[in-house]
Amino acid sequence: MKHYAVFGNPIKHSISPSMHNAGFKLLQIQANYTKHKLENGQKLRQTFEALNLSGANITVPFKEVAFSQCDEVRGIAKEIKAVNTLIKEEDKLIGYNTDAPGFIKAIEEFFPLKSALIIGAGGTAKAIACALLQKGLHVNVVNRSAKRVEGFKNLPIQTFTWENFTPTSYEIIINTTSAGLNDNALPLPKELLEQSVKKARYAFEVIYNKPTPFFLTCKENNLITKNGLDMLLYQGVLAFELFTSVKADEKLIRVMRQSLKHQITN
Ligand code: NDP
Repeated sequence: MKHYAVFGNPIKHSISPSMHNAGFKLLQIQANYTKHKLENGQKLRQTFEALNLSGANITVPFKEVAFSQCDEVRGIAKEIKAVNTLIKEEDKLIGYNTDAPGFIKAIEEFFPLKSALIIGAGGTAKAIACALLQKGLHVNVVNRSAKRVEGFKNLPIQTFTWENFTPTSYEIIINTTSAGLNDNALPLPKELLEQSVKKARYAFEVIYNKPTPFFLTCKENNLITKNGLDMLLYQGVLAFELFTSVKADEKLIRVMRQSLKHQITN
């Protein structure tokens, strides 16, 4: 029996275990996936080893500390400097970032795309920005505070705060903030958001468990709008492939999606 887990704090809300356990069950793989609240990120690797894990996912706020504790980091995680998937390879701990390719997979039907506006400048924004740059898009980032946009200064991206932002034309607008998750806030002042939305064709909201004010504004303005469910799904599918070395087929993806939907609606 192999063991996998997701680490975060808080972690109670995580619906990743049901998605991965549904996949293991379908493929009759002898493995289980649990969730662990970690108090101290410095103890991530030690805890991973103490639990005898073969792999893990990492969520807020430990993706950067996970990056620093790997023996080797592969793929786009090197640019993002954050890891959401850990794999044990012999005695080594290998780090990956599946949030970035998971996001690209989630918006696959919107391509080809040339320009994007990312609202927010946290960890998710950085993963999405690196993924879009890799796809050749022109990317702008706008954030409430000036401090967080510092993290983008080494990327070929124009960054703004609410104070100096003048919306231009973007094909897709992506909300990566938690505005609207536990309140009715918009991620940008109303006027700036409305100006941006009027010129766009697509919108993506990372929040997946409710229609946020951002999501509803985009819908009202006739943008083709998606929520974050498929991003959650595909980062999980890609992690599952790394855990099991099995290429996910349509049936596996369907079962994993159903398990997420079941968790969200119950
Ligand atoms: P971070 O804490 O790293 O960043 C949060 C960002 O949101 C900051 O830029 C912050 O701005 C901004 N923000 C927060 N509240 C507001 C507000 N009321 N108005 C405007 N801006 C605000 O968080 P993450 O990047 O890790 O996560 C962000 C969201 O993405 C969460 O809701 C999370 O659940 C979701 N998520 C979804 C995934 C999926 O698969 N669908 C995957 C990963 C995350 P400031 O700097 O000014 O504080």
